[in-house]
Amino acid sequence: MVYASPNMPEKMLKFVKLGQQNPPKREILERKEDFNEIYKEFINEKAKEQSSRCSQCGVPFCQVHCPLSNNIPDWLKLTAEGRLKEAYELAQSTNNMPEVCGRICPQDRLCEGNCVIEQSGHGTVTIGSVEKFITENAWENKWVEPIKIKLEKKQSVGIIGGGPAGLACAEQLRKEGYQVTIYDRYDRPGGLLIYGIPNFKLEKFVVERRTNLLKKGGIKFVQNFEVGKNATLNELKEKHDVILIATGVYKAREIKVPGSDLENIFPAMDFLIASNKKGLGDKVEQFDNGTLNVQGKDVIVIGGGDTAMDCVRTSVRQNARSVKCLYRRDRENMPGSAREVYNAEEEGVEFVWLSNPKKFEGTNKVENILVDKMKLGNPDESGRREPIIENNSEFKLKADIIIKALGFDPEDLPYLFEEKNLKVSRWGTIKADFDTMETNLPGVFAAGDIIRGASLVVWAIRDGREAAISIKDFLEKKESKKAKVA
Ligand SMILES: Cc1cc2nc3c(=O)[nH]c(=O)nc-3n(C[C@H](O)[C@H](O)[C@H](O)COP(=O)(O)OP(=O)(O)OC[C@H]3O[C@@H](n4cnc5c(N)ncnc54)[C@H](O)[C@@H]3O)c2cc1C
Ligand code: SF4
Repeated sequence: MVYASPNMPEKMLKFVKLGQQNPPKREILERKEDFNEIYKEFINEKAKEQSSRCSQCGVPFCQVHCPLSNNIPDWLKLTAEGRLKEAYELAQSTNNMPEVCGRICPQDRLCEGNCVIEQSGHGTVTIGSVEKFITENAWENKWVEPIKIKLEKKQSVGIIGGGPAGLACAEQLRKEGYQVTIYDRYDRPGGLLIYGIPNFKLEKFVVERRTNLLKKGGIKFVQNFEVGKNATLNELKEKHDVILIATGVYKAREIKVPGSDLENIFPAMDFLIASNKKGLGDKVEQFDNGTLNVQGKDVIVIGGGDTAMDCVRTSVRQNARSVKCLYRRDRENMPGSAREVYNAEEEGVEFVWLSNPKKFEGTNKVENILVDKMKLGNPDESGRREPIIENNSEFKLKADIIIKALGFDPEDLPYLFEEKNLKVSRWGTIKADFDTMETNLPGVFAAGDIIRGASLVVWAIRDGREAAISIKDFLEKKESKKAKVA
């Protein structure tokens, strides 16, 4: 839906107003092409206008705060000058999926939050939107092409996990001519890009378009393949010269209160996967039979991170009767993005700050949730103020469905992979050398959430790219050793 705004060109306003008058479908279709043309022109102008706001300040704080060190001032300048192909080439030289980052990076905490113009109180240059525009324009003009190999190499790399870390590493190594296979337990590649992040934030065609391009470039994808079930780590090591573990973190944190075993209490990923699969056109029994479909229901989401925000906003889109978000700290101390909270509130989500579940009540299915009111004490080891229960403060909320979004921990990989020598931290993340991304097992590297804990797409891409540099180095050394022996 496009809304009328005062700075829209007159001819575009005409179409927007027409849309608001609810015209017959035939008329909309007839005018759709015209509208698309005008809309494209409008976006093009907007991108140029935003790009020309960059002061080229000489101290690129935006670039410093982008995990990929994207050359932002230069591609903004090229965009402002209308040199869009060069802008795209520069943007993609440091980022394997600029169209994804442009859509879903929390820019307020990264590039845009540190823009000098923002700091001086004049509103940031909308860097993410320009990055998205540059890359979408490149797709449209067919400038985004599959990898072309100059020299095929025999050495092979097995990557466990087809999320952003695995995909970025795969692309970088394939460009060097290596044989790359990605193994993933899901039926589609993309990791959390495809099944975690909802369509309204990241359209699924964007992810599929990218993974299809990688397939065309010669990367092999083996879906529905779970390491630990279909093969052990050692079996995979025997097939490849190098292994990258990029499995992300998926063990949902639990709430241990009475009534937790009642029906209709679900982990966030169950809810989001069902919704994303449905959006992709799959038959999803638990959605179709109403179990994981919240239409007409009173929904309570527990948690204060970005996953919780995705659950509340997905619930709104499924036409829930009411959507509440329970968080044990206050607005200032929540981990999720302030922009997401603002968006959720705009959409009608009610935030119940300083509240913690005490008990789930119901006969078979959950019917109510008993909640303790909290207050904030001194900062704990995480630096955030510790939530403390207020005495005699409990209250009750009605719920048809509860969605638990309390964060994720790594699975027990040494056990699952049948490789007890694989070193992990006390949190269960894989211990890797942060310079080389190599684990304690020679020839086994790791990247993304599985080494950082739940993080961001842009950091996963950076890890994948860095792992690729070290893997190339490792493979070259291996090859030259072989040549010396021969
Ligand atoms: C709901 C949600 C919303 C988010 N929103 C944002 C956002 O807006 N912006 C942002 O920057 N970040 C967001 N994130 C975080 C971001 O998605 C992750 O940081 C990022 O995807 C991590 O990338 P990864 O490649 O390390 O792992 P993942 O994307 O998790 O990919 C790991 C892949 O490994 C596969 N795998 C796991 N175990 C095995 C196994 N044993 N065998 C084979 N395959 C296996 C999985 O199937 C998966 O495909 C969000 C996360 C969630 C959960
Ligand atoms: S990758 Fe993310 S942080 Fe970097 S410029 Fe793009 S939107 Fe900003």
